[in-house]
Amino acid sequence: MKVTMITGDGIGKEISQSVMDIIDASGANLTWDIVHAGEAVYEETGSLIPDKVFTSLEQNKVALKAPMTTPIGKGFHSVNVALRKKYDLYANIRPIQSIGTMETLFKQLDLVLFRENTEDLYAGMEEKVTDDEMRSIKIITRDASERIIRRAFEYAQENHRSSVTVVTKANIMKLSDGLFLDIAREIANEFPTIEFKEILVDNMAMQLVIDPYQFDVVVTENLYGDILSDEMAGLIGGLGLVPGANVGDDMAIFEAVHGSAPDIAGKNLANPTAIILGGCMMLDYLGKTKESHNIRYALDIVLSQPENFTHDLKGTASTSQFTQAVIKQVQQLN
Ligand code: NAD
Repeated sequence: MKVTMITGDGIGKEISQSVMDIIDASGANLTWDIVHAGEAVYEETGSLIPDKVFTSLEQNKVALKAPMTTPIGKGFHSVNVALRKKYDLYANIRPIQSIGTMETLFKQLDLVLFRENTEDLYAGMEEKVTDDEMRSIKIITRDASERIIRRAFEYAQENHRSSVTVVTKANIMKLSDGLFLDIAREIANEFPTIEFKEILVDNMAMQLVIDPYQFDVVVTENLYGDILSDEMAGLIGGLGLVPGANVGDDMAIFEAVHGSAPDIAGKNLANPTAIILGGCMMLDYLGKTKESHNIRYALDIVLSQPENFTHDLKGTASTSQFTQAVIKQVQQLN
């Protein structure tokens, strides 16, 4: 089975190698079609996403993607956003599940965030009115809202989850967020066995740090989802631990939630757990559930031994030491 691997920028190369080595060790028997995109490729070739990347994605339909750098406040637009829009990967699914025994704010947390992935303030509709006035337009449509909200409810039903919480700011953005909320209320009626909750985004941000256990499946718009998923990652130990999937009707790109971490790039310090868990989501999607189960189990063991903790988890293990520890566990489970 052939999949695309996009290596990315910053810590991307280090963590891409780590996840490929671990999946290979699991016996999943994948063939990696390795392609490069992002800032480094742009500087070298003038192309942010070379044609090879599109060809590979269109052939394989399944990819694992390392993080890429997007310049802040200037320069080119995000590769991630471009791929999500081009292939209509409308559902961004981020499971926030406690793993290992490191010191964290909360234990045994199990949340799943569904983030709309194609519109909102990420629609790229910005305009300069004058030098002193800029506008960003927020787009919320019925079609895009319906499909992400329905997907969250279907997931909740299929996975025996208790509730779906919709997060908006509909008290202020009465039209755009009001539409998203109205649609959530309509769809909730189709799923009478799932408890439906609604909450404003500012309150959600606070409730998450006070009592995150009151939430289960959460569905929201693009920008709120981006911010809240980083906050949720912080509750279980940080960005190094949370994966994500960008799923459309016939293509899926799996990734880590975190960015390219330029501050630690090339230093063998990155925690590869998030992209490894992204790899596990990809294996599940491909029906290779035995291999994904073994890798998750191995990760849980490795993250319960302080000598394997990377610097973000207040440890001293390098990316390669961590990777070797996971491979050793995976091989024992084969
Ligand atoms: P970031 O996620 O790269 O880093 C935030 C902090 O978390 C940094 O201190 C970093 O060292 C740490 N960190 C992140 N991942 C880690 C890991 N695996 N192991 C250990 N520590 C880790 O966020 P940022 O600094 O705001 O963004 C850097 C660049 O990444 C920007 O160009 C941004 O646009 C891009 N970005 C890309 C993606 C993506 O490709 N999916 C997502 C978010 C940000």
